[in-house]
Amino acid sequence: MPLQSINPATGETRETFEEISAEDVRKAIEEANAAWKDWRRRGIAERAHMMRKAADILREGARDYGRLMSEEMGKPIAQAVAEAEKCAWCCDYYADNAGMFLAPEIVETGHRKSLVTFKPLGVILAVMPWNFPFWQAFRFAAPSLMAGNAAVLKHASNVPACALATEDVFRKAGFPENLFRTLLIGSGAVDEVIEDPLVRAVTLTGSGAAGRAVASKAGGALKKTVLELGGSDGYLVLEDADIAFAAETAAKGRLINSGQSCIAAKRFIVHESVRAAFEEAFVEEMRKAKMGDPLSEDTTIGPMARRDLRDALHRQVEDSLAKGANCLLGGSVPEGPGAYYPPTVLSGVKPGMPAYDEEMFGPVAAVISVADEAEAVKVANDTVFGLGGGIFTRDLERGERLAREAVEAGSVFVNATVQSHPKLPFGGIKESGYGRELSHYGIKEFVNIKTVVVS
Ligand code: NDP
Repeated sequence: MPLQSINPATGETRETFEEISAEDVRKAIEEANAAWKDWRRRGIAERAHMMRKAADILREGARDYGRLMSEEMGKPIAQAVAEAEKCAWCCDYYADNAGMFLAPEIVETGHRKSLVTFKPLGVILAVMPWNFPFWQAFRFAAPSLMAGNAAVLKHASNVPACALATEDVFRKAGFPENLFRTLLIGSGAVDEVIEDPLVRAVTLTGSGAAGRAVASKAGGALKKTVLELGGSDGYLVLEDADIAFAAETAAKGRLINSGQSCIAAKRFIVHESVRAAFEEAFVEEMRKAKMGDPLSEDTTIGPMARRDLRDALHRQVEDSLAKGANCLLGGSVPEGPGAYYPPTVLSGVKPGMPAYDEEMFGPVAAVISVADEAEAVKVANDTVFGLGGGIFTRDLERGERLAREAVEAGSVFVNATVQSHPKLPFGGIKESGYGRELSHYGIKEFVNIKTVVVS
């Protein structure tokens, strides 16, 4: 099956790429492994020099890379440029800190010398999604390459041009030829990559279904996986919240990347005493979003990345309405060729509705009313997901207590929407996955934590 780069704003095919053959996949892995054998012996300073160069290339080319993302998956251009710049930040961060993170640790044990070292594993497979086509790839690649690994990237089938551009950044930055390879393959060809003995571990970001398939295969081959899957975490709006601020922040969080983010605010769990005020303010904020051409600077919502994803989202909305939710804003598919879906607010959302039980991967918010804090926490945790949640309250001690002790998720932000940051670990619990990306935790996912004892 050819991989098609389709502009979701127009429905036009930009470019078509042939999938590479199984033989070429095998060759790419062998070449990446050969490059790794040299790369693993290079010092951190040399690796860091190239990683900083990659950061420069991303910053200098941010507008072009941004345009590519906008055209290929519909991200509003301002957000797309910011994404390329964030990738540069991540490359710089690991260039600056990998040496410290991976420094051998001396441990007192009674032997003459005991130490822990962090050694690269080899070729790591990254299966990545389309929603942050650069960021998802770079937040894996920057730490993995700095740790001395090689990488093969199987990117989502709808972003082949971004996948090739990512490979090109590393090539232009002077990394050894073949150390980072993009494999233009569909999901049906991933099993063979996992089975390849030269592939040492796998990381995947995407849906639960993809995570299950890849983790099962990797488990069968006894290979480690890191999984970053979906989320539908709760954002608590407590009775003492600043409602105007909560509504504005909630709308921004819900609409980031046109609603297609695993950590986007999705279910708003609102104290009944402030529900009406929150709904009114929130609907106004959601209404302010400017939907349109992703290449216009003032666009805040572009099309969704594919028509099938837009149609699946609309089915979830219709099903939720049929089960008794109220539509306060949006909820209908606009006319025209693009994969657009308007900002949508559903109220009166309850268990049994897709808006409560499932991830809504688009600009649709669910408002759930609760009687008190205890019920708010119960509803927040009443989900198979555990990725990133939020709490709005003026009482910061209360917010921190709930974030630390009550809400079950990989990240909980008080009075802010969840965002990834190179210095902070990122990942989930429950069906949102396992393992962590970013920070010093992320770089240690794909290393051999090796004990050395001299007696
Ligand atoms: P998928 O999870 O299907 O795709 C993510 C990546 O996994 C892609 O590279 C895809 O390849 C690959 N993949 C999918 N199935 C398999 C498989 N069986 N074996 C190996 N690789 C596989 O996402 P979709 O694009 O279909 O989006 C569907 C839903 O997934 C969204 O609506 C959203 O709920 C969730 N999602 C979550 C993301 C997150 O950030 N957590 C990101 C993207 C989606 P290919 O493109 O070739 O199928």
